[in-house]
Amino acid sequence: MNYERIRKAFFIERPNRFIAYVQLDGEKETVHVKNTGRCAELLVPGAPVYIQESVNPARKTKWDLIAVEKGKRMINMDSQIPNKVVQEWIEGGNLFPDVHLVRPETTYGNSRFDLYVEAGDSRIFIEVKGVTLEEDGVCRFPDAPSDRAVKHMEELVRAKKEGYETYVFFVIQMKDVRYFTPNTDTHPAFAEALKKAAAAGVKILAYDCEVTSDSITIREPVDVVLESPRMKETAKPLVEWFRKNKRDLPWRERMDAYRVWISEIMLQQTRVEAVKPYYERFLKALPDVRALAGVSEDRLLKLWEGLGYYNRARNLKYAACQIIEEYGGKFPETYEEIRSLKGIGSYTAGAISSFVYNIPKPAVDGNVLRVVSRITADDSDIAKAGTKSKIEKEIEEVIPRDAAGDFNQSLIELGAVVCLPNGEPRCGSCPVSHLCLAHEQGRETEFPVKKKAKKRRIENRTVLLFRDAQKTAIRKRPAKGLLAGMYEFPNREGRMTYDEVVGYGKSLGLTPVRIRKLGNAKHIFSHVEWHMTGYEILVDELEKSMADENKEKGNIIFAEIRQLQEEYPIPSAFEAYMPK
Ligand code: SF4
Repeated sequence: MNYERIRKAFFIERPNRFIAYVQLDGEKETVHVKNTGRCAELLVPGAPVYIQESVNPARKTKWDLIAVEKGKRMINMDSQIPNKVVQEWIEGGNLFPDVHLVRPETTYGNSRFDLYVEAGDSRIFIEVKGVTLEEDGVCRFPDAPSDRAVKHMEELVRAKKEGYETYVFFVIQMKDVRYFTPNTDTHPAFAEALKKAAAAGVKILAYDCEVTSDSITIREPVDVVLESPRMKETAKPLVEWFRKNKRDLPWRERMDAYRVWISEIMLQQTRVEAVKPYYERFLKALPDVRALAGVSEDRLLKLWEGLGYYNRARNLKYAACQIIEEYGGKFPETYEEIRSLKGIGSYTAGAISSFVYNIPKPAVDGNVLRVVSRITADDSDIAKAGTKSKIEKEIEEVIPRDAAGDFNQSLIELGAVVCLPNGEPRCGSCPVSHLCLAHEQGRETEFPVKKKAKKRRIENRTVLLFRDAQKTAIRKRPAKGLLAGMYEFPNREGRMTYDEVVGYGKSLGLTPVRIRKLGNAKHIFSHVEWHMTGYEILVDELEKSMADENKEKGNIIFAEIRQLQEEYPIPSAFEAYMPK
């Protein structure tokens, strides 16, 4: 879009919204300001401005204000031009390849939308907003409260529901900006309306423009941040910090999907240091998807023994079989396919797809929930699923396209080594302390907010080690429920007395030679705590003395110490009673 009859002048003052005084060739001239926004940061005394001479001799004011220089930036501030440049750009085949109608100013309900477009079978409404407010590369709209703009958003949502495609198109009337975000300072209601519109399926676009003193054309798409500009600002310093400071971890040596997957499943609920030896051992035994798909359940659970949550191990094998059957053994490479594998939730799918394939999907675990709620001083309850989805949305919008994996890992790493749980975070060494709202308010330890979970049920249990000189009795747990399919020492609910232990032994046909009380132990599962007490019951020739019917009924197996250590997966809940 080109302007004719443009002259350079210098801004003097703006006595009201509609006119300004400028100096042109040493003379004071009155110019018409089409942009009735505040434009306070643009129209400063002495600023070079570009004005257009009117061709209408009857006009009271001969000049229109078109553009202004702000430092090195040229900003077009003609409020009538955005509609025209978008129309021209769409007619040129941009945005919709098969466009056959573009009509300006079309009435819909009680509103008029800037553009109505027909392309292919689609009927499209576009509301165009010109943006001139810029600070440090960040563009905002509106520059002054605008109830009309809020009404437009509501009408677009209505049109969307009635089957139209709908767009809000922000024309950034300058070049090279970092991102666009609604101006929550001047008009929070517009920011809310825009978010609601986006959630209802209205597409939100922003493009910057090539601007000269006498022309303006649409250039490149600009990132739109509806949720958290604060998080957007953290991306660069976090990625830089992570690249310099990341820990050497075995699964980071070579980022392939299988290795990331195994490590991420192991790391759920378990500390990095504790996972390392399990990870090395697992990878050595099952180096790839095929090995995992073919492993026996007992062997798998043995490799997993001590990590807890044994269903995770079973799901790994199940998913490995899915990969063999559905993807010919090749790990899938899209977020949706990875997410569809058994046992893979949004966190693990985000981790694999971003770390390995650089797909900009969020990976929000407990560390990230804590870090983000502190940076944004968000007091939503992180135990609620809605909070996690909200934070995922905030992150997804700001993930840098060229550093998705490093950004996600930087948040996780920050939570693991700097923004620590329980106790004081190390804000002194935090790369984003200057952006952190909780830090600014001195309220770091108030976040994250987590409402108390329901109290765990306490269950008393007595663990019985029937042994002779060689073997110990164990049994397999049922295929469903807690610790399904694992092996255990016989145990009963409640705290048994010495006499009850003797009586129980006899009922199995065993005559104890000696009974020794073992210590107490505790094991915490997610919903229940076992408070255990134990007895070692020495028996002569254990295997022979137990009646066959009892062996069968109780599913009893007699195992040597070596077998207990190497063959049978025994949950860490029984570790305190493991014979040495
Ligand atoms: S400044 Fe402190 S509270 Fe904020 S993100 Fe950094 S470590 Fe966490």
